[in-house]
Amino acid sequence: MTGTRDGAIERAEKYFDDGGFLAELQRRVAIPTTSQEQDSMPALQQYVSGEMTESLEKLGYDCTVLPNPRTEYGPFLIARRVEDSTKPTVLTYGHGDVIRGQEEQWRQGLSPWKIVVEGDRMYGRGTADNKGQHAVNLSALEAVLAERGGRLGFNLKLVLETCEERGSVGLRDFVAGHTDLLKADVLIGSDGPRVMPDVPTIATGTRGTFHFDLVVDLRPGGVHSGHWGGLTTDPAIVLTYALGAIMDRNGKILVRDWLPRNGLPASVRSVLHGCEVGGGGEAASIDPDWGEPGLTAAEKIYGWNSFIVLAMVSGRPENPVNAVAPNARAHCQIRYTVDTDPATFAPALRKHLDAEGYANVRIENAGIRMPASRTDPADPWVRWTTASMERTLGRHVQVIPNSSGGLPGDVFVDHLDTALIWVPHSYNGCKQHGPDEHLLIAPAREGIAAFAGIWWDLGEK
Ligand SMILES: [Zn+2]
Repeated sequence: MTGTRDGAIERAEKYFDDGGFLAELQRRVAIPTTSQEQDSMPALQQYVSGEMTESLEKLGYDCTVLPNPRTEYGPFLIARRVEDSTKPTVLTYGHGDVIRGQEEQWRQGLSPWKIVVEGDRMYGRGTADNKGQHAVNLSALEAVLAERGGRLGFNLKLVLETCEERGSVGLRDFVAGHTDLLKADVLIGSDGPRVMPDVPTIATGTRGTFHFDLVVDLRPGGVHSGHWGGLTTDPAIVLTYALGAIMDRNGKILVRDWLPRNGLPASVRSVLHGCEVGGGGEAASIDPDWGEPGLTAAEKIYGWNSFIVLAMVSGRPENPVNAVAPNARAHCQIRYTVDTDPATFAPALRKHLDAEGYANVRIENAGIRMPASRTDPADPWVRWTTASMERTLGRHVQVIPNSSGGLPGDVFVDHLDTALIWVPHSYNGCKQHGPDEHLLIAPAREGIAAFAGIWWDLGEK
């Protein structure tokens, strides 16, 4: 039995159209793998040792579930299908954990743990981030295996983690400790959004995340707002002005040392030329006047750094008292590309705040949560994958130098020296970290076809 490329793609599309994919994803979405919640360990175990091991063993994979080097965090699954060590070896990645369900906030008729198909969407927690995305790629693999008569023609290894939503704790040590098992020529995986819902996308890296607290702590407790208001310094006001010194009212970062010293690299500017961004539906709007002046929307999120206040508080907004609060605190984030060194962020901020007269604003808990990573968009593996996808889908594939979100690609670059090829199947409006998370059906269907093509072509390589 020989089979054909078109045959593999047709099989994958048929599996999707006939409900096979939906049934498989439903089983996985039903497992509440909410890694940020205390009692989630049995569900995380069930996902890797039960559901995924059973599915992959049927396809001839050797599956091993191993504990996290940090024992209080979720386990890893390694699945390997090595046919011929002289053939290319691909590593693929996924994460089985999801953020909390937020059951009570979902729209009427929807639920995080049961998929509801409505129009062009499949609703459910993890449909976009990341269960739906790795299910797409593995379903395509099954189609290629069937079409080639039980053979792939290359070697595939999968690493599935269960604490990505907690910052991939333990992944670096885990990969470093299993480089022989995981060694590969390239990483091809899926997570995150396309640049636009209908534009097939390849991201060759991700932005990193750097977090810190800004703290104004002036006295041991609140003091009467009548006796002291107007006489003593208000920490909320100081914090607000300090934030204003970091970013102007139009979203331009004023700590210029946080930004790529030589502006946008030429290779990044060129690959992003003409790249459109958007299609987020009702999730949010792009405000053209927000952010770094002179950059396009694509350059702002794929080529530049952003500063975001994730949370801030002074006193107790839910239960105010007549007092000048003792302190104010903001938890902040920088999303950064490989063109800046995160080790300079905290010192640069300290210098900036001091120069602006905010010596009483402290920086606490500063550190990298997820490092940035990037493979050169001109890398041969990027060109090869782009060509394969364009052949399958019959249209332009947009390459971006890094995804706007975070993924632990740095770990694979550092320890396995692989090129990074991320092929996202979702879109900006998927609400992956809120209620009503969903996967768009059309990009998912294209994803399964595109991966059937990629997996088929790898066997011919
Ligand atoms: Zn996520």
